[in-house]
Amino acid sequence: MLPTVEDARKTILPFISALKKVPVDTSSALGRVLADAIQAPICLPHWDNASVDGYALRAEDVSQASINTPVSLFLQEEVPAGQTAQKPVEKGTCCRVFTGSPMPPGADAVVMQEDTKVISGGSVLVMECVRPFEYVRFRGEDIQAGKQVIDKGKRLTPFDLGLMSALGITQCQVYEPPKVGVIVTGSECVEAGQPLPPGKIYESNGLLLQSLLVQAGANPCVFPIVSDELKDTTERMDQAIHECDMLITSGGVSVGEHDHIKPAIKALGGTIHLWRMRMKPGKPMVFAQLRGKPVFGLPGNPVSAAVTFVLMVYPALQKMSGCHSWDLPQCVGKLAHAIENQEDRHHFARVRMDEEGLIRLAEGRQASHALGSLILSDGLLGIPEQTRLEAQTEVRVIRWPRLGDF
Ligand code: AMP
Ligand code: MG
Repeated sequence: MLPTVEDARKTILPFISALKKVPVDTSSALGRVLADAIQAPICLPHWDNASVDGYALRAEDVSQASINTPVSLFLQEEVPAGQTAQKPVEKGTCCRVFTGSPMPPGADAVVMQEDTKVISGGSVLVMECVRPFEYVRFRGEDIQAGKQVIDKGKRLTPFDLGLMSALGITQCQVYEPPKVGVIVTGSECVEAGQPLPPGKIYESNGLLLQSLLVQAGANPCVFPIVSDELKDTTERMDQAIHECDMLITSGGVSVGEHDHIKPAIKALGGTIHLWRMRMKPGKPMVFAQLRGKPVFGLPGNPVSAAVTFVLMVYPALQKMSGCHSWDLPQCVGKLAHAIENQEDRHHFARVRMDEEGLIRLAEGRQASHALGSLILSDGLLGIPEQTRLEAQTEVRVIRWPRLGDF
């Protein structure tokens, strides 16, 4: 019996490992995968500070203050953002502060500007009682110095980079992103932009796979189209595997006499670990190793290439990129109508999910060459062999990945 998709992943992933670590400036680290965890070198906030515009004071001085019994405090100085108080706040005094101003020594709370009135003679009337520590943001209340704030294996987001800046960090260690070669095979394939002779097709997989690789955070390297000749296929694969960390081919993995990917891998001394899975579309996918590097031979039909990329290549790329998780992004919803799979292999249907979480088959043909329904879909619904899923069944959809999903 052919392996399931799960079996196939278990075969593939042990052959994949992360590439080397490199230092990078945080200013160009967006989307890179962190290779060394980040520890906070300082506390955030760095010191106790005011959370509103107002007056720093001693809460006990104004514990009885109200609109009818205001308390007058002597205003001794003003601490704008970026400066520190020159004098401690003592009994009966206060200090003008603004959001973010460091708390003056001696003060333990802040009264909001709206609850005060400045009166002549350099005093402030406080018209509201204030509890100790009111409107104070404490040193380290957000992040304590020494805490591990970002785990190794995380793809860095804008928020991670903002935090690193707040901590004064300008550089971090990330993993080198995989350089992935893409070889499109097929004597019928012509690149868009060229004349289209009879019998030829504009090929779609070069740009489709290149774009999926960019979304996955990898560096794609697309080679010129290879004709269905063993010699051409072997030479191009030999070149690509030297230049890249991983190789993806499209087409030429079926049983026809013009399918040269497997013979080329063998001719180059590679090892084929997997060929064909119990899935639709994408059954004939190949996984091999060539010169110690992973090779994915994807089927030529564009939907099969997209589906096998997401289900098989994507997790491998995440692992090779050093990500701590290589699970596929999923979401849960309910079927709007029944869906049946009468075949003896797992079907990955292209589906849409609406705002209410209702899932339906994407419009158009569910066929491995049908790009029309692929572009209307939000993801894939797996339907096990010989299974009927009734309307309203709760199901998980594998969402098409986007940049930064992991
Ligand atoms: P193959 O996997 O080479 O047997 O091809 C299966 C089907 O996919 C055939 O109809 C091919 O013409 C088509 N095909 C192969 N490669 C591409 C490509 N790069 N773009 C679009 N269709 C392709
Ligand atoms: Mg072909």
